[in-house]
Amino acid sequence: MKKLSNQEKSTLDSDTLLVVGGRNTAESFGFVNTPPYRGSTVVYANAADCLAHRNRFTYGRRGNPTSEALESLWSELEGAAGTVICPSGAAAVSTAILSCLKAGDHLLMVDSTYRPTRSFCDGVLRRYGVETSYYDPMIGAGIADLVRPNTRAIYLESPGSQTFEVQDVPAIVGVAKARGLVTLIDNTWATPLLFRPLDFGVDIAINAATKYPSGHSDVLIGLVAANAAAFPALKATHGDLGLYLGPDDVFLTLRGLRTMGLRLREQGANALRVAKHLAGHPQVASVRHPALPGCPGHEFFARDFKGASGLFAIVLKAESDRQVETFLDSLKLFAMGYSWGGFESLAVPFDCTDYRSATRFAPGGRAVRLNIGLESPKDLIADLDQALAAMARV
Ligand SMILES: *Cc1c(COP(=O)(O)O)cnc(C)c1O
Repeated sequence: MKKLSNQEKSTLDSDTLLVVGGRNTAESFGFVNTPPYRGSTVVYANAADCLAHRNRFTYGRRGNPTSEALESLWSELEGAAGTVICPSGAAAVSTAILSCLKAGDHLLMVDSTYRPTRSFCDGVLRRYGVETSYYDPMIGAGIADLVRPNTRAIYLESPGSQTFEVQDVPAIVGVAKARGLVTLIDNTWATPLLFRPLDFGVDIAINAATKYPSGHSDVLIGLVAANAAAFPALKATHGDLGLYLGPDDVFLTLRGLRTMGLRLREQGANALRVAKHLAGHPQVASVRHPALPGCPGHEFFARDFKGASGLFAIVLKAESDRQVETFLDSLKLFAMGYSWGGFESLAVPFDCTDYRSATRFAPGGRAVRLNIGLESPKDLIADLDQALAAMARV
């Protein structure tokens, strides 16, 4: 087998990259996968090399062949200059934000962001002298009116956590570029397979790889990819924070990625089938799925995304919390639990009315988020139908 050049790799489809990327069988004695390399100390050949830190790998925290395999695969998928690996999605968010701000700066944060991201901004960032203000995810080019003299960065998350508003990324990036601002996006829902932020001019793309890349609900990991302008500060911040993820979790993520294309296609198709069924169900008031009309920003989804993943929300025609509890407790194939993106279906109730500040979430009923897994959609639909029937009887 001949080695692919970087130029040749850049022309490959993501399905092919997921198979051929991040592997160096010649360096693994011919074994197909790069194994988990455990190690802190890396020894040098002589005193001169040791003093100059001249080695392919210099110290465990600074990288090993396993982490390098994942970083290179992810950078190829994102079309990025480089990637850093963080010990969770939340750590990826905070590391990315810290890499581009300093005391006195102002950050524009999307109101539909993941709640712990909000907590990081209102807590740690504020204590270190960075002010955050929140904006409506549907603001588009209108974000220009919120830019202050000390605004340094705009943070996007699309679709929004729990509520799935799809943002007009090109319009916001256009404003950011005109004003010299850095843009960051939490792209966990889509992964670079369904939306490639850097192709749209975003500087830093964050992925809670705990979700689809690892894909089996057994690893916490975050990945941050950046373009050439943003990567040096990202890499330096990651190093200074002393972040490291153990090689077994990195290995499991590499293993998960080999099948991510297949899983996303299957879970996306299953989720759309379930969502369409629920949209016509008498006990369901509305469905929020980016690929269905009625989801805020559906037109941007149709314009910019290659497909949908497996997470969406429904609003129940439930008059009481007890009815919602009956629905959830009657489900047999959907467990209740946080996180998502694994192979198994999940349901969690949510309510973001008390903490959003730039917008008001008023869906007109009680909301539940569904993660659709790899089960047969026929079985999932039958399970949801029987639980909705039980709810209606309360
Ligand atoms: C889950 C999630 C995170 C955080 O990931 P963890 O690995 O749980 O820390 C960040 N952003 C989004 C959109 C998420 O869904």
